[in-house]
Amino acid sequence: MTQPHLNLIAGAWCPGETATMNRNPSDLSDEIGLYAAGNAEDVARAAEAAAQAQAAWFDAGPQPRADLLDRIATLIEARATEIGTMLAREEGKILPEAVAETRRAAQIFRFFAGEALRIPGQALASVRAGVDVEITREPLGVVGLITPWNFPIAIPAWKIAPALAYGNAVVMKPADLTPGTAHLLAQIIHEAGCPAGVFNLVMGPGSTVGAAMLDHPLIGGISFTGSVPTGRMIARRAAEQMKKVQLEMGGKNPMVVLDDADLATAVSVCLNGAFFSTGQRCTASSRLIVQAGIHDAFVEELARQAAALRVGPALDAASQIGPVASLSQLEGNLSYVRLASDEGCEVLGGERLNGPTEGFFQRPALFVGARNTMRVAREEIFGPCAAVIKVADFDEALAVANDSDFGLSAGICTSSLRHARAFKRHAQAGMVMVNLPTAGVDYHVPFGGRKGSSLGPREQGSHAAEFYTTVKTAYSFAG
Ligand code: NAD
Repeated sequence: MTQPHLNLIAGAWCPGETATMNRNPSDLSDEIGLYAAGNAEDVARAAEAAAQAQAAWFDAGPQPRADLLDRIATLIEARATEIGTMLAREEGKILPEAVAETRRAAQIFRFFAGEALRIPGQALASVRAGVDVEITREPLGVVGLITPWNFPIAIPAWKIAPALAYGNAVVMKPADLTPGTAHLLAQIIHEAGCPAGVFNLVMGPGSTVGAAMLDHPLIGGISFTGSVPTGRMIARRAAEQMKKVQLEMGGKNPMVVLDDADLATAVSVCLNGAFFSTGQRCTASSRLIVQAGIHDAFVEELARQAAALRVGPALDAASQIGPVASLSQLEGNLSYVRLASDEGCEVLGGERLNGPTEGFFQRPALFVGARNTMRVAREEIFGPCAAVIKVADFDEALAVANDSDFGLSAGICTSSLRHARAFKRHAQAGMVMVNLPTAGVDYHVPFGGRKGSSLGPREQGSHAAEFYTTVKTAYSFAG
């Protein structure tokens, strides 16, 4: 019997109450490993250790924090192929994407190593003679980080790095499907010399470990990325306890294609945005809003290229699209494929595929002839499925793009500067792309959305300070 991989609490590797086996969605016979599943007591020990370690961590000043983050970045980079292979194996993203995500995590740690040295403050003249006013940023204290399975190293990185850079201590709970990548990251943080208790990893189910984090009084803020229903519940629980929250949730991201777009660019942008990473990106283009003049040529070429995408095991160099991450996700996708047909769309692709091994493979799907009122155009599917909605002109395209409960990312393919400018100005989304896929962002600028997609301050870049710090105004009178 293999030994489980353990939780990291107070600088020591600790068993959980139980352990769960992690499986490979490309090959169900591949058992990756056993991972500890903690409980509320583990969360309490982690929160207490974090609270105890946090003051010294902050008081030591920014240099040790910058140095630690820099060492973590170097260690991630050195092990990028090993970590990327684990990521591809447990999440199903193809290996080049998984290694690129791992390298992105290293870049994020290095960016925040610099940010630790640039924590902003302000000194203002007081309205009272002889009085000085200083505005400083201080850490929240202990932050709880709850992350999803679809970017199992980049999302933990963009939460852990700013949390530590600004002097917080961390209790992190990774997604149940992807503990392997999180465990490798925790090993690296530990090996890099993170003081005991400053970073704690508690793996296990959301309903026990996550719920205990929401309730623990020593955890002052929760940064969550995941689905809307979980986010909504977290917002309610956090409000009852006056905890600060940052929620990054779903999307139903529109990509507008105007008649004046370059067809090859539009097809490549939509193929990437809708289907790469198996469509399992919160920023995926799941509504393709296409003007009537280019519609038929666009659909024909996109359908041809989508059907030609090689779907297969994540670690197979020939694969362009890996499997869906889990059986429940696959079943959900297939039920949306049936729904699209029931709602009157012409469905191209979308069927379950056999691979060389037993896995959750699905052909990319286009729902042609969709209307924006249909459920397949309103609900997040989170798989390789995109609804194609035909519109008459730019004004209708913009109105359809904005008619959504979500507002994460929005894109337009056009050669018109006027339309590009109007779209950037009026799209109700946190991020806007012109002639680029809705997914795929830089790591040094803010990330986040509007409406049902996000709540609280933005993540990433220097804007991350908004969540991970609290502002203090100090007055002094020299006498
Ligand atoms: P999920 O909501 O099921 O789970 C997210 C995390 O919350 C997991 O760690 C889970 O264990 C935990 N959780 C579940 N129940 C909980 C509870 N009762 N209390 C506390 N924690 C709990 O989401 P998922 O399926 O892992 O991820 C997919 C979703 O994530 C999609 O909706 C996607 O759009 C979203 N996502 C958003 C972004 C973004 O930045 N906007 C990025 C990636 C993914």
